[in-house]
Amino acid sequence: MINFQYSRASDIAEAIGLLTAHPGAKLIAGGTNLIDLMKENVEQPSRLIDISRLPLRQIEETGQGGLRIGALVPNSDLAYHPLIEQRYPLLASAILAGASAQLRNMASVGGNLMQRTRCAYFYDTATPCNKRTPGSGCSAIDGLNRNHAILGTSASCIATNPSDMSVALAALDARVHIAGPSGERTMAVSDFHRLSGDTPHVDTNLEGSEIITAIELPPRGFAGNYSYLKIRDRLSYAFAIVSVAAALEFDGNAIREARLALGGVAHKPWRSVEAEAALRGQPATMDHFSRAADLLLHGARTYAHNGFKVELARRAIMRTLVQAANATPQSQAHKKIA
Ligand SMILES: Cc1cc2nc3c(=O)[nH]c(=O)nc-3n(C[C@H](O)[C@H](O)[C@H](O)COP(=O)(O)OP(=O)(O)OC[C@H]3O[C@@H](n4cnc5c(N)ncnc54)[C@H](O)[C@@H]3O)c2cc1C
Ligand code: SF4
Repeated sequence: MINFQYSRASDIAEAIGLLTAHPGAKLIAGGTNLIDLMKENVEQPSRLIDISRLPLRQIEETGQGGLRIGALVPNSDLAYHPLIEQRYPLLASAILAGASAQLRNMASVGGNLMQRTRCAYFYDTATPCNKRTPGSGCSAIDGLNRNHAILGTSASCIATNPSDMSVALAALDARVHIAGPSGERTMAVSDFHRLSGDTPHVDTNLEGSEIITAIELPPRGFAGNYSYLKIRDRLSYAFAIVSVAAALEFDGNAIREARLALGGVAHKPWRSVEAEAALRGQPATMDHFSRAADLLLHGARTYAHNGFKVELARRAIMRTLVQAANATPQSQAHKKIA
């Protein structure tokens, strides 16, 4: 591990000022991802700016029927908050599908959004990796790529985004609140993460001196018909091979509104407006779910070891839609798929 300087920010303005003054610096919140990456010499910040004591731990009603969640709210506090459990159970379920209880106690909302890929080559500094060292090549494309992306890939990088929480936030149309040297702005979670393109070292659309201050959930919570299904190699403490967030609203037997997002298959949570539009106005039948799955997976491209992901994702999408339509969401306590 390299030497680094340490500062503790006393307010948001100081955190932004320190980021601006020290371009090689990194924010640290719970430290559950950044410290691991520093120990592996993947991340080498010249300075850590500790934001863990900033007053960003509130979960508050917005006044427009939504919720504002501070960037430092621990993942476990968020998942077990009564307003989240009652109004946004899809988000609670996705968070509880991730990591372990101890990690969720430390992990922050902002850090979860910003966590980096779990591509093994990214962690292995003896191998080429365009995300870690731009221009060095991608070891996964012709290497072991069983866990890698099938959608939105590029010739530079086929890594996936590992966050479960972000998949639910994308499906819920959540927005990210950001503060920086030029003031404050907001961005849809769906626009926050980037595809790898030819700049895979840039994971998100956050600028260098900006800080995430909060997440905003809109009023629509899909509390009746939702499910988060995570397919992984072990039932616990493993990242998604494929995950699906599904949320439906009904007018009688017809689907009034549909949201679908995939995890584990792309460099960002994967949504398709065509797939969601194809469900609106339709009854909840396997034929319509199958059509939505085809649209969501349109353009999938596979590599030597991850071809199985297309059919796995198709079946997972249909299963999750059935669970959502029947109001029998996937249990995160009893992880066996119902
Ligand atoms: C063994 C293990 C298993 C895991 N399994 C899962 C899993 O199954 N599913 C899952 O989703 N996650 C999983 N995780 C990842 C975990 O969710 C993340 O490590 C955690 O959410 C990161 O939050 P943090 O506060 O600790 O971030 P930190 O490690 O402190 O920071 C991570 C990054 O975010 C940046 N950052 C932090 N806060 C802000 C902010 N407010 N504004 C801008 N940038 C910020 C930091 O600069 C850093 O680059 C696992 C982690 C481990 C170690
Ligand atoms: S897939 Fe991306 S993160 Fe993995 S080796 Fe290739 S460039 Fe690096």
